[in-house]
Amino acid sequence: MTDFAVTRARFRLPPGIVYLDGNSLGPLPAGAAERARQVIEAEWGAMLIGAWNRAGWMEQPRRVGERIAPLIGAAPGSVVVGDTLSVKIYQALASALEMRPGRRTVLSDSGNFPTDLYIADGLLASLGRGHALKLVAPEAVEQAIDETVAAIMLTHVDYRTGRMHDMERLTARAHAAGAVVIWDLAHSAGAMPLDLAGCRADFAAGCTYKYLNGGPGAPAFIYVRPDLIEQARPALSGWMGHAAPFAFDRAYDPAPGIERMRVGTPPVIQMSVLETALEIWEGVDLVDLRRRSVELTELFIAEVEKRCPRLELASPREAGKRGSQVSFRFDEGYAVMQALIARGVVGDFRAPDIMRFGFAPLYIGEDDVLAAVEALAAVLAERAFERPEYRRRAAVT
Ligand SMILES: *Cc1c(COP(=O)(O)O)cnc(C)c1O
Repeated sequence: MTDFAVTRARFRLPPGIVYLDGNSLGPLPAGAAERARQVIEAEWGAMLIGAWNRAGWMEQPRRVGERIAPLIGAAPGSVVVGDTLSVKIYQALASALEMRPGRRTVLSDSGNFPTDLYIADGLLASLGRGHALKLVAPEAVEQAIDETVAAIMLTHVDYRTGRMHDMERLTARAHAAGAVVIWDLAHSAGAMPLDLAGCRADFAAGCTYKYLNGGPGAPAFIYVRPDLIEQARPALSGWMGHAAPFAFDRAYDPAPGIERMRVGTPPVIQMSVLETALEIWEGVDLVDLRRRSVELTELFIAEVEKRCPRLELASPREAGKRGSQVSFRFDEGYAVMQALIARGVVGDFRAPDIMRFGFAPLYIGEDDVLAAVEALAAVLAERAFERPEYRRRAAVT
């Protein structure tokens, strides 16, 4: 059994804060600041350029990928870290489309995160080959898969509502129709067990600053199914993905294996922080994590519905169809969230009217859930959301 008191003690949360926004930016892990300092002083400072060899900087993207692999059900050697999720989505989609040269449709759903869709728009326009991005309602994806679809590109857990796609079923359906499948795991990695290898997903990518707690600007990861990697042209063919970057050959020759998905110089300091954050997962059983996540979200929904009947549940009621977050709709959601934050309960808001609450079992327990509901009920009862200071919109909501 995973001891969540132990994992909770491995985070540096400010006192008096109930942090329900780890689905957007995970909190600071113990040891992360020390690790960054060590990299800066003992590696960069003392070893200078020699640290690329002596401190293992060159292998870091692969080494950190190996730590992420078991969290997403990937075989060793199939995950590499670098760049941002937006960039990794671009690479995955570009590679996928080349694998289906005769097809012109990219299928996604209307709930997908905007950057994924913007990136697809931009790539399809650059290709100039008449590809179209087809968006359907999340529930209609399965029926929309047909022989015209080159790739389906989906976010497993919806960022607004927490609705979760059936990864195994949709991957199998897509494969039966001959399409390539790309999963965005932004709200899944570190939130639940995943089985990329078992469901034979072709590509996956995710960020590491949400449930993986790598900190602001932490690099993304990309997965390519091992039997596909040698056919995958990385699209962003940078020197760090070359078979021999320091041969400085004129011709691009992709590295064997997943390392071809590297692009340029890795963010060493940031990736070291991520590496420290990933150590927390060593004693964690993801089945326990999911069980705990379901307990916490079920408790939150039940208590909010009992105490705050004006709020409307925006997440699936059935736990099996939901990720590790719960969202409620309310017209004054933005101001309610600001009032909650002022009381130390931190969630966030997504336009037009969604209040999001993330439940990361590594550091959130029942006491936090009950404290958050108490504060929410008080904000509504006191109509604190009517105060003008809670209505001013900041740049990040
Ligand atoms: C958070 C998130 C992103 C963020 O992409 P970045 O390039 O890291 O800024 C992309 N897609 C989804 C689905 C997300 O939830």
